[in-house]
Amino acid sequence: MNTPEYHLYIAGEWMPGVSARPNVNPSDTSDVIGLYAQADAGLAHRAIAAAARARPAWAASTPQQRFDVLDAVGGELLARKEEIGRMLSREEGKTLPEGMGEVARAAMIFKFFAGEALRTPGDLLPSVRPNVGVEVFRQPVGTVGLITPWNFPIAIPAWKIAPALAYGNTVVFKPAELVPGSAWLLAEILSRTALPKGAFNLVMGAGSAVGQAFVDSPEVQAISFTGSVATGRRIIAGAAARGAKVQCEMGGKNPLVVLDDANLEQAVETAVQGSYFSTGQRCTASSKLIVAAGIHDRFVQAMRERMARLNVGHALRAGVDIGPVVDERQLAQNLSYLDIARREGAQAIIGGETLERDTVGYFQAPALVTGTEPGMRINREEVFGPVASVLRARDYDEALHLANDTEFGLASGICTTSLKYATHFRQHAQAGMVMVNLPTAGVDYHVPFGGTKASSYGPREQGRHAAEFYTTVKTAYIAS
Ligand code: NAD
Repeated sequence: MNTPEYHLYIAGEWMPGVSARPNVNPSDTSDVIGLYAQADAGLAHRAIAAAARARPAWAASTPQQRFDVLDAVGGELLARKEEIGRMLSREEGKTLPEGMGEVARAAMIFKFFAGEALRTPGDLLPSVRPNVGVEVFRQPVGTVGLITPWNFPIAIPAWKIAPALAYGNTVVFKPAELVPGSAWLLAEILSRTALPKGAFNLVMGAGSAVGQAFVDSPEVQAISFTGSVATGRRIIAGAAARGAKVQCEMGGKNPLVVLDDANLEQAVETAVQGSYFSTGQRCTASSKLIVAAGIHDRFVQAMRERMARLNVGHALRAGVDIGPVVDERQLAQNLSYLDIARREGAQAIIGGETLERDTVGYFQAPALVTGTEPGMRINREEVFGPVASVLRARDYDEALHLANDTEFGLASGICTTSLKYATHFRQHAQAGMVMVNLPTAGVDYHVPFGGTKASSYGPREQGRHAAEFYTTVKTAYIAS
């Protein structure tokens, strides 16, 4: 059977790129899903020019028109949750329930921002001068360049595209090279809405060509990026230097503290969900487990037993808990961090081996590295796979110190039955998101998302806070 081909969407037209790139199923590498057109910098600039031309028409659209477009996209995503979820699981390796859950989340994000289009915030304020009124209102930024990573192939595009359009901006969107299939399906849905031609453009291609063109073009007024710290820092330097607005969500090394008074069973489930589900390929994954001395040995033993019951396999098969690692490069990175931990003197590694299944894929058993020290690379660097380390803490104070002892600050969690420690942790954990008796991974779609320290730069994503990035504030003084 011929592999299907998929085009770019620029200026309201589907068009070929300068080359094509396949996406391959990480559960079964003989399954080549499709051939996706790749743009070069020239095609990226063509999309940017189309988005610039569409700016006046979309900025002038009514809140009702924006609501209708976004609500229709949300509705269609919900109706096609299984079909699109299958594509997502097939190209990224999340299990089918996780893939369908992600599509449902993307749908709700579109529906949320459909509502926000009707509620764009503003203020009427008194002036200090007589007979003058002050109106503070929000306008679109212009054209926004959206660059996304591979690990949430539809939720992250949704939480950028939906607010960008809701607040009247036009969009050039570049998905990650490994997962164009889910993004293409979303673009196809957007192409059938009443958006003006050029208001939304799908520009698949390499970061160094397409992403860089967004960063360099003076016609792109704002860049929203999610991905690694190294790429994010390059984008911040390039875009900020020419005065563009920049928002970057980057890596994490998210701690989960388990105190002596925690409910052991609940703590183990929280750790397993946070560390290993979605194959640990989440920026909010709990990758550093800080366990108080009084519960440490029981916790490690209970983790060992629970991990042995996790079913790793083909993402589309029933009964699988954990799908494959996304590709060969990521699998090699996961294994190399286990080697480094061994060389640096970690006491033991539970699991972590590659697994054979009846298809050829990148299957890896979840790994727990015990007896580690704070300075080891496994405790300082993001691995981005089903790999967690354990640090023993004397007491709460040391656990909090170890939790904050990182350059990252995305999510931080604690398992405890003590209101005192939960309240203190909520206040003093250095992270944008704090979880009490919940996995660090797993967030709502309608509230702010983002971190501190090296994890994030610029305003928050999601929820009403997204208006900060996707609008500019104008202050009007009106004398009567
Ligand atoms: P990546 O940085 O390699 O790539 C992200 C995107 O940037 C891709 O679309 C890529 O093509 C593009 N890109 C690469 N070079 C570029 C350049 N010079 N200019 C413009 N764009 C360029 O990241 P990845 O491997 O796709 O994703 C994994 C990383 O993403 C992890 O570090 C993870 O923590 C992070 N992540 C963060 C969040 C968050 O919200 N904090 C969410 C998901 C993933």
